[in-house]
Amino acid sequence: MHPVIIVGAGPTGLTLAIDLAQRGVRVVLIDGDARRAKGLPSNGSKAICFAKRTLEVWDKLGGDLGQRMVDKGVPWNVGRVFLQDDEVYSFNLQAGQSSERPAFINLQQYYAEEYLMDRAKELPLIEIRLGSTVKSIRQDALRATLAVACTSADYEISASYVVACDGSRSTVRNSLGLESQGRIFQDRFLIADVRMTADFPTERWFWFDPPFHPNQSVLLHRQPDNVWRIDFQLGWDADPEEEKKPENIRPRVQALLDKACMKTEFELVWASIYTFSCERMERFVHDRVIFAGDAAHRVSPFGARGANSGVQDAENLAWKLALVLGGKSPIALIDSYGIEREYAADDNIKQSTRSTDFITPKSEISHVFRRAVLDLARQHPFARSLVNSGRLSTATGLRSSPLHTTDEDNGKGEVFPSGALAVGSVMHGQTNTDTDTIERDGVTYLVRPDGHIAARWLHPTELLVQAARNKACGGMTC
Ligand SMILES: Cc1cc2nc3c(=O)[nH]c(=O)nc-3n(C[C@H](O)[C@H](O)[C@H](O)COP(=O)(O)OP(=O)(O)OC[C@H]3O[C@@H](n4cnc5c(N)ncnc54)[C@H](O)[C@@H]3O)c2cc1C
Repeated sequence: MHPVIIVGAGPTGLTLAIDLAQRGVRVVLIDGDARRAKGLPSNGSKAICFAKRTLEVWDKLGGDLGQRMVDKGVPWNVGRVFLQDDEVYSFNLQAGQSSERPAFINLQQYYAEEYLMDRAKELPLIEIRLGSTVKSIRQDALRATLAVACTSADYEISASYVVACDGSRSTVRNSLGLESQGRIFQDRFLIADVRMTADFPTERWFWFDPPFHPNQSVLLHRQPDNVWRIDFQLGWDADPEEEKKPENIRPRVQALLDKACMKTEFELVWASIYTFSCERMERFVHDRVIFAGDAAHRVSPFGARGANSGVQDAENLAWKLALVLGGKSPIALIDSYGIEREYAADDNIKQSTRSTDFITPKSEISHVFRRAVLDLARQHPFARSLVNSGRLSTATGLRSSPLHTTDEDNGKGEVFPSGALAVGSVMHGQTNTDTDTIERDGVTYLVRPDGHIAARWLHPTELLVQAARNKACGGMTC
């Protein structure tokens, strides 16, 4: 009987394991990927864009983890959007922001997982079982029990809580007869990682209807090791088997290089054809089994919200599990994980759906609207806000959480810092398993262990702060 078993050592499961261990919770981390068991990186590069908020979470996990990611990754802040040959607008995600971290780094997911795994291995409270595949799960009032297959012997293992971070095809979810439901976008994308020496700037470039790939869209990102990620929209009728053949990929890449007048050799590192969907489970908490990351919700990659939101799930859950297992908070605190992260998933799905609808318009009228927006955006700033090539991941503010205390000082709103410091937004730098009070510019904030602001006052009293602290911890003093 273990306190917590995490199924899946992707970015979500690894982040959660480390965060829990740092808060003193023993964790068993199980992953069935045979490559991982052999010490190889998991197959293929999936995520590449990791957001500032994710770096801030990893900064808190010790072992210089965030810095390691930044040192290897390619930082970027600027994006440019093109219509055919013309740049229609550009944005700087870091403008007006003060942060030690860039808006994004580009880093292959397998590097991020490798660095997380290295950190996990440093922590004695984490027992890592690679090459163990979960086959099924059952639960009763006190525990959840997993049936696990591995090469040496099949076995069962139980825990007070099992967190399913086992990805979009979650065995745990299927074994409980649960579903993730949503919408599939009827389009296909070739995602190609190409090694080449090219001097495109370190920016996100997105083309609508470029001359080298007419009537479709293309996205270009630089990664470490001289690898470039190129996403080619192909349309729903494209044949996935044909399209992923190197002889069909190479001319597409060559056309882009020719258009940019770049004479360079290139090597295909990895390529896949994807159809994207936005979906989520109805509830993320099922008694002793909790779902996080892609197992709980899924978005299209435009906006880079998949792994980034999984890391935010992990951050939200770790301190709550630690308090509940430590007897300092009631079990109900875990329900707030579900409420808060289901809300965040809805927000991510909304943003991702809007972007994907704009990128892959399906009706004639959607095409007309998009064309008009893009044409207007060349000259008129108002239209630029309507161009949607992927609204990029930021931390989701939790504005109506059951853990938060409504402002006592309503009516004096102008005195409070606005925007990023509104109730429910995120501050940087919390490391403990407790709430904390921070005073800034005459306002006292009660900050949760995950950095979200639970309450704020102009005139705090001990009584007010204690009541808000109890609420933030699910109803008990933490
Ligand atoms: C082409 C592409 C580009 C993307 N780009 C971005 C991006 O730029 N930014 C971003 O944030 N997101 C991006 N994503 C999404 C991102 O890759 C996923 O959201 C992320 O991998 C989810 O992490 P996870 O840990 O929840 O699940 P996963 O990464 O899927 O990890 C699940 C783990 O569980 C293990 N597992 C599965 N079943 C079992 C079992 N039965 N027993 C034991 N272990 C099991 C697997 O081996 C795996 O290690 C992209 C996705 C794709 C496909």
